[in-house]
Amino acid sequence: MAASNEMSCQELVELVTGYLEAALPEADRRRFEEHLAECPPCRAYLGQMRQTIGALGRLPRESISDDAKRGLLDVFRDWKKRPPT
Ligand SMILES: [Zn+2]
Repeated sequence: MAASNEMSCQELVELVTGYLEAALPEADRRRFEEHLAECPPCRAYLGQMRQTIGALGRLPRESISDDAKRGLLDVFRDWKKRPPT
């Protein structure tokens, strides 16, 4: 099984709840973590999700709406365009 295809930010957003529930298959989890290692905005997003869960004591019941996902991905794009400080 070739696992060389890189995860996109959008895919990561889709899988984040599965990741936090430790429900991802090993191959997906590895791709998830490889993406995180190279993508600060996704690390920040994962941190936000962890904070939300910490505040609620559980995963949010409602999944993220498509609009919210699109908004997030815009933030990611802007973030990447910004020069490092
Ligand atoms: Zn990303």
